[in-house]
Amino acid sequence: MTKPFRASDWEAYLEEALPPEEMASIERALREKPDLLRHLTSVHARRNAGVHTLGEIWRRHRISCPTREQLGSYLLEAVSAELAGYVEFHVEMVGCRYCRANLEDLKTQLAEDQQLVQTRRRRYFESSAGYLRAR
Ligand SMILES: [Zn+2]
Repeated sequence: MTKPFRASDWEAYLEEALPPEEMASIERALREKPDLLRHLTSVHARRNAGVHTLGEIWRRHRISCPTREQLGSYLLEAVSAELAGYVEFHVEMVGCRYCRANLEDLKTQLAEDQQLVQTRRRRYFESSAGYLRAR
């Protein structure tokens, strides 16, 4: 299912020069196949001697951080399984401190107003239901 990646794909990935779907596809492959992580790390090490771990690569480039809006939707469970998986991978495995801080901040905001969360959830499902009926 996963197409093989070419050297140019890795280069473009590190340059953040791929469309979001291809970035996501590469990140999904990296999550599933540790040997690809090692490969990417070696590609990057050749490009930029001195940086040796994938975590450093991510922290250095802040590669494809989800937006604050996406993180908020993630907390509200209003995102696709794919985006949810990506957020978890990005925050837990890559350990992006920037997004982790953003998530903590958003969680605090949400906890302060549970009522608003309930309203948003209801609206989200209502609008989905309306959309489905319209089809
Ligand atoms: Zn991030």
